[in-house]
Order: sequence, then structure tokens, then C-alpha cells
Amino acid sequence: MNKTDICTIAAKFVEASEYNYVSEKIAITPRAAGLKMFEAPICGVGLATDHYFNELKKSTAIGEHFLLPQQWLPEAKSVISFFFPLSRKVKITNNKDKVWPSDEWLHARIEGEVFIHKFIMYMQSILQNAGYKSIAPSLDDRFWSKFAFNSATEHPKSSFTSNWSERHVAFICGLGTFGLSKGLITLKGMAGRFTSMITDLELTSDIRNYQGTYEYCTLCGACAAKCPAGAISLIKGKDHIACCEFLSKTAEKYAPRYGCGKCQTGVPCESKIPLSRK
Ligand code: SF4
Ligand code: SF4
Repeated sequence: MNKTDICTIAAKFVEASEYNYVSEKIAITPRAAGLKMFEAPICGVGLATDHYFNELKKSTAIGEHFLLPQQWLPEAKSVISFFFPLSRKVKITNNKDKVWPSDEWLHARIEGEVFIHKFIMYMQSILQNAGYKSIAPSLDDRFWSKFAFNSATEHPKSSFTSNWSERHVAFICGLGTFGLSKGLITLKGMAGRFTSMITDLELTSDIRNYQGTYEYCTLCGACAAKCPAGAISLIKGKDHIACCEFLSKTAEKYAPRYGCGKCQTGVPCESKIPLSRK
């Protein structure tokens, strides 16, 4: 089994899985019924021993709490990162209202999460049947993430962090570089979802076609102009607290769903690497 086999299996799953389509039963509005949330993913492979993973343990990156591939799976050989671009309909509809997310975006945020979990479980079963071990950190009991300061939790000193970061892992696996809005810009743009798995299957790693962490971002400022919370600035970067507070407002308005993504839609890096940095 090689990377091409894995990407082909992933692409077929995206087309065929019922979880990638919004059913009539759960659709917020009739317009959203039958919505396809994601297109075929792009895949990147990194060596489990890539020195960049150690870099993420530094306080200037994520911090000591970031767990290395071998800490998740001692036999780890490869890390596979997947980026699922959102469908055209999800992106177009979310660009219509200047403040609030579209129904399609809300579905892709919440039901999209369910799809990603089903996908990872499916890929794990494929690897297991082929005789390989795998771990998906996002589904593992040891995984944690924090989006705000909360002294009542197990990680009181941490904020807006996690012990496994899909975007940083995607960067290491050659999928792209960060943008001003802190999303990752890939060949298929930024509007989409990442997931990853660690396996003892030995795969050829991908080459990172970039040197800088923000190489694909043109600093055009379009994401800052679109943010309804004023959370992105060309001078100060991203204000995670302001972003989080706005997401909380969407949670109040659209419970049990929430979402925003205005900084990812209708911007030059939505669906591709911006032209001047290609
Ligand atoms: S919209 Fe412009 S500034 Fe913002 S992340 Fe994309 S390329 Fe960078
Ligand atoms: S998700 Fe919304 S609130 Fe957060 S930075 Fe992007 S546009 Fe701003």
C-alpha cells in the first residue's frame, strides 16, 4: 500500500459516504438537503521522525505539551495528513452574508466533523486489514484542545492550543503554509478541514515546496477586511479571543451548531494558493 492507494481510497470514500451529504431529515432548510460538504482530499505524507515535529515542542511553536508521533504510536513510521476542500456550494453560500454563516457552512462545520470522524475510522480499518497499526490523535482518548483560558480544566495554563495540531502537521507533511488568518493555505486553498493519522506503514515522505511558515500568504488583508469580529490585523495578526467570542455568538444564534469562516471564503486563498505566490 502506498500514498496513491491511500489517496484513491480517500477520494472514493468522499464520493460514496452518506455522511458527506446532508440528509433531508437533518437539513436546517430544504435548500441544504442533499448538500455535498467536501470534495476529494489532497494528501501529504511526513516521516514520523521529521525533526520539525520536535520543533513543535518549543514554546515558540506549540509547546512541550505537543505529543510527537512516537508518543502517540511507539512504532510510528509515517504521518498522513488529509485536507478536504469544502464544496463550491458551501463556499459560495458562506460568502453571501457579511456577518452570519450560511446554513451550508453550519452543516459543514458540525455534520462535517461527523464525516471526518467516519472517514478516519474507515481509513484505520483499511490499514488494519492490510496489517498496519494506526492512531488518529483527534479520536484518541489522550487528545485535548483548549480554546480559552479556563483554570478549572486539566490544562489551566494553556489557551488556544492542543497536544496535536492538524494545521501544523499538514505543514510538516508538505500540504501548505499558514496565512494571516492562521488557516493553512494549500494547493486547494484554505476553506476546508484537516485530519491526520499516524501509522507504522512505511511511506515515502512528501517534499515541502516552501521554506517559510507563511510563504503562500500574500498579506493582501482580504481576510482582515472580511472578519465580522475585527479579529485579524495586518499589524497584530490574529486575535484568538475576539474570534472565539464571535463564534460563541454564532453558537447562541444557531445552537446546536456554530461557525463563521468568513476569513476563508471570498478571499484570494479560498480555493488556491494566491496568484502572486504560486
Ligand atoms: S486573505 Fe490574503 S492575507 Fe488573508 S490569509 Fe489569505 S492571502 Fe493571506
Ligand atoms: S472565523 Fe470569523 S471571527 Fe474568526 S477570524 Fe475568521 S472571520 Fe474572524
